[in-house]
Amino acid sequence: MTRHIRKVAVIGSGVMGSGIAAHLANVGIPSLLLDVVPNEVTPQEEARGLTLEDKVVRNRFSTTAIQKLAKQKPAPLSSKAKASYIEAGNLEDDLPRLQEVDWIIEVIVENLTIKQQLLKKVDEARKPGTIVSSNTSGISIEAMSIGLSEDFQAHFLGTHFFNPPRYLKLLEIIPTEKTKDEVTTFMKAFAEEVLGKGVVECKDTPNFIANRIGTYGLLVTVNEMIKGGYSVGEVDSVTGPLLGRPKSASFRTLDVVGLDTFLHVAKNVYDVASGSEKSIFDPPPFMKDMAEKGWLGSKSGQGFYIKQ
Ligand code: NAD
Repeated sequence: MTRHIRKVAVIGSGVMGSGIAAHLANVGIPSLLLDVVPNEVTPQEEARGLTLEDKVVRNRFSTTAIQKLAKQKPAPLSSKAKASYIEAGNLEDDLPRLQEVDWIIEVIVENLTIKQQLLKKVDEARKPGTIVSSNTSGISIEAMSIGLSEDFQAHFLGTHFFNPPRYLKLLEIIPTEKTKDEVTTFMKAFAEEVLGKGVVECKDTPNFIANRIGTYGLLVTVNEMIKGGYSVGEVDSVTGPLLGRPKSASFRTLDVVGLDTFLHVAKNVYDVASGSEKSIFDPPPFMKDMAEKGWLGSKSGQGFYIKQ
């Protein structure tokens, strides 16, 4: 069969979902960016006389993400790909609109149960044959689709973008045993030729390849920092720009990823690890304390660094 991806639904408008929608816009593919409906109005919305019934409130997460992308520094969406390529929506009102798209990508919080609940709704709402993928950092792709329709399972795979998705070339593609070869082959070619990505096909194992190595590296670095009494600044100096690697400083990376997401990703391996590996994938208490306080990194304005 000849496939075309003319329109995409991106579900989850956080750090990665908004970045993926922006990347699609930059290559000329329109998307519907969906998120949950907020359960309360903000004081600012209340002051404007808005209620939870107003569309602008119902679409708040997606709309805010699009507004941020339009202003993003140093690179807003290119002039060719004005924010109009991305349409805001929400998962209560707009699920039937999944019928309009050729690819649905799930980019919500890294939690198996929450992803399964969403994918069940997606299975019911999509048109048969539509490709569905997950951007999970390392949850089992097969586990996410257990109990869903055969057609869904045949068209479901992992497409793991890296952060920021507009600039990092790597894309891990993770088929399961049930994914049709035609779907995997198509997505690999589409990712390379249309999205401009460099594809690595991975087995469906916890954290796939890049995060299995990357999470390990970051956690070993944090533990060595504690043992050696080094500062965050010292570690970043020797893992980042001063070594000619402007984007790879350890704690800057954690701020870009989001500490909550990083802790979920470490847990993907912790849950299956044994022996000394298990203790490495158990992040030190101070990281959990930071996440509990909401010091998540760039997305919350404060992590290891305060966002300027
Ligand atoms: P995020 O915290 O920035 O955004 C998560 C989004 O999910 C939010 O917009 C939230 O409103 C939405 N959400 C929460 N519960 C939901 C529900 N029940 N239904 C629908 N939407 C819901 O997270 P993120 O960093 O964008 O990560 C999203 C996914 O991408 C995760 O699976 C993560 O592991 C993966 N990922 C993250 C990175 C990274 O560097 N942050 C990199 C690659 C992959």
